[in-house]
Amino acid sequence: MPNMSLHKLPAREQAPDIRNTNFEEVSQGYDENMAVEEAARCLQCKNRPCVAGCPVNVDIPAFIAHIAKGEFMESYGAIRQTNSLPAICGRVCPQETQCEQLCVRGIKGEPVGIGRLERFAADYAMGHKKEDGAQKTQKRAPNGKRVAVVGSGPAGLTCAGDLAKLGYEVTIFEALHTPGGVLVYGIPEFRLPKALVREEIATVENLGVAIETNTVVGRAMSLDELMNDEGYAALFIGTGAGLPNFQKIPGENLNGVYSANEFLTRINLMKAYAFPEADTPVRVGKSVAVIGGGNVAMDAARSARRLGARHVYIVYRRSEKEMPARAEEVHHAREEGIIFRLLCNPTAIEGDENGEVARIRCVEMELGDPDASGRRRPVVKQGSDFTLEVQTVVVAIGNSPNPLIKNTTPGLKTQSWGGIIADEETGETSKPFVYAGGDAVSGAATVILAMGAGKKAAAAIHEKLSAK
Ligand code: FAD
Ligand code: SF4
Ligand code: SF4
Repeated sequence: MPNMSLHKLPAREQAPDIRNTNFEEVSQGYDENMAVEEAARCLQCKNRPCVAGCPVNVDIPAFIAHIAKGEFMESYGAIRQTNSLPAICGRVCPQETQCEQLCVRGIKGEPVGIGRLERFAADYAMGHKKEDGAQKTQKRAPNGKRVAVVGSGPAGLTCAGDLAKLGYEVTIFEALHTPGGVLVYGIPEFRLPKALVREEIATVENLGVAIETNTVVGRAMSLDELMNDEGYAALFIGTGAGLPNFQKIPGENLNGVYSANEFLTRINLMKAYAFPEADTPVRVGKSVAVIGGGNVAMDAARSARRLGARHVYIVYRRSEKEMPARAEEVHHAREEGIIFRLLCNPTAIEGDENGEVARIRCVEMELGDPDASGRRRPVVKQGSDFTLEVQTVVVAIGNSPNPLIKNTTPGLKTQSWGGIIADEETGETSKPFVYAGGDAVSGAATVILAMGAGKKAAAAIHEKLSAK
């Protein structure tokens, strides 16, 4: 009997006033009974509309049907057919604009909690590894061909894992000392525990993928050297978009102004989240302004709150409807006491006599006609200037691809804003046997789109090298 409740079963969560003082995971997911109950809301639609909303085509009705029958390992096996990082996607995918947006249960109520169920299956499998037949991924015999992957974010990890399964000898070159890309240095512990990311990376390593950290391609060696001197038959570039954008307003060079990248990297990679056991290598004032309205802004604001800031403002120039952040993150941020100053735009950051941030000047905005992105253009409301007294400002208005690879790779064509030009279906670039995908091509996007691009490129590389 299907469960006809109109509401998605809420997941267990830490209470807002407790979690805003710690870095432990906010959501504790479903237990077994809750997962079975929510799975029973799925109608097992024959035309499977939800699947079309998933960039990696997870067989959603199949994995949910297994959960409904208590077959949790089988459920995980069904997800793993097309998704190599389910514990991560179940937590961070913007489900409301992807799989869940197309769920028929969403027409008259809330959609099935597909993300929460995916997370449940993945977590269950991690906790029951020994009984896990599903984890024994089929792997072909070595084919003697080597492929290099640059960058160990979700695009690179997925591409590497898929190629290893096909018998390739794959090496990932990663600039930082830890693999994982944004999953490790960007998304905070309270949303994506790092132990879990390490487990997902270990799954890729268990397929035989080698990861060389502390290796900046473009400095240590060029792409051409990897191909011509090191004998790699093909390359995949998954270097992400790690170069922060600034608004270019006065005062951005004051002490106490951070890019969100720097702010979050210090907290995540330098373990400020483990405060007080680790020294906090980031200074957070009593009042903090975070400029931007995406996931990055929410993560920075919620991290600042956890590090002791009393007033944390999100300053965003459009309205809540236009905010690119996941709905759940906005909801959680509000519950944790983040103050939203919507339809507001900063015009200058002002400092004290020591060059430290003292306040941020803003103007109010109203929405005018739609711009090129289809979103209504914010226009300044005359005479609406105001100031917020803050000691820290975090700029989270987007990132662009780092130009290093472009500048050191002759013949690699890029967009005017720095994105690598690559075929949407295959990831093929302007250079023979060089493929690219993820944020390095699209600009800052999502984990699942980066994984999808890594997957498509792996299939295209295999086709190309098989024909050689
Ligand atoms: P990345 O994850 O950026 O990985 C690129 C890797 O390449 C990095 O490890 C980098 O060090 C390495 N690299 C770069 N240059 C070189 C070089 N020259 N040599 C060697 N290695 C190099 N998406 C969601 O779907 N949901 C979310 O909730 C979400 N929240 C986010 C929160 C934050 C704070 C941020 C920053 C992003 C968030 N995103 C979210 C976006 C998502 O994380 C990215 O779209 C995704 O990680 C892109 O994957 P990627 O593999 O293309 O690049
Ligand atoms: Fe939905 Fe993301 Fe899972 Fe696909 S991978 S089913 S989009 S949560
Ligand atoms: Fe189940 Fe919703 Fe997909 Fe239908 S659309 S199969 S109800 S998850």
